[in-house]
Amino acid sequence: MQIFKPNVGRAIAAPSVPDIDQIVRDARSAVFLVPQDANAEISVPKYIAQSAAAVKVGATDVIVERLGADGGRAALATIVRELHSVPPEVRGGIQSVMGAGGKRLDDFVRDLAYPDGDGRYTGAEYNTVNKSIVMYRLADLEPAKVIFNLNHEIGHHIETVEPAAFRGWAEIQRRDMAASRGVTLMRSADELHAPQAGKLGVTGYGDTSVSEDIAESLALLRLEQRNGPVARRTDGAGGVPVTFAELYPHRTAAILQTRLGAAFVTRS
Ligand SMILES: [Zn+2]
Repeated sequence: MQIFKPNVGRAIAAPSVPDIDQIVRDARSAVFLVPQDANAEISVPKYIAQSAAAVKVGATDVIVERLGADGGRAALATIVRELHSVPPEVRGGIQSVMGAGGKRLDDFVRDLAYPDGDGRYTGAEYNTVNKSIVMYRLADLEPAKVIFNLNHEIGHHIETVEPAAFRGWAEIQRRDMAASRGVTLMRSADELHAPQAGKLGVTGYGDTSVSEDIAESLALLRLEQRNGPVARRTDGAGGVPVTFAELYPHRTAAILQTRLGAAFVTRS
């Protein structure tokens, strides 16, 4: 057992945080090809960025197209910083995270299918074959949204690496639907990715499939770790904060029993 002495009058040493600005300054230029997505419903030509910035976070290549006035540095810094906070055993298997400023052909097609608002896509995808993440629309997404999308895709990675741990998820969804029945939550600006109560999906996007529900659950738990309770009940002035575990006890218990999922949502 270790005995801690009181740390009076001394600054507590800052945890070792990488110098993100230096990392971004040192980023190499690269030309990259986004691999064709093996899962896409619509086949698209390879996306080619003529100019990109590339760095490594552990074993993971992070490559961001030079976009916007700052040459993609802000987006690169957001992604690198978030990846650094992901436990190494979780991010270790991810080969690359590639970011592009624009949309992919699929997204234009989906815009036509869902003309209201943002379309039913997250602006990112995970390739189960080469265990890589591709992120789109970095030029128009807020950093918080980039982080949510990245964590959603890491959620897909965790399920891919640890599939047995997530078997039975459909039943877990049904149990949480029963557990949160009768709860009403305040509306959110991001309806598609906001927690919902008394529904099968943890979010509207989680209604899409079991895998999307798992990815959304992991992303929400990461968000809660950073910002506090993910939702507010409508009762009380301004709404009473409610945690993920209170709303979805069965998902929480199931995730905490997984190796990578538990590490992802309890450590950073
Ligand atoms: Zn997804």
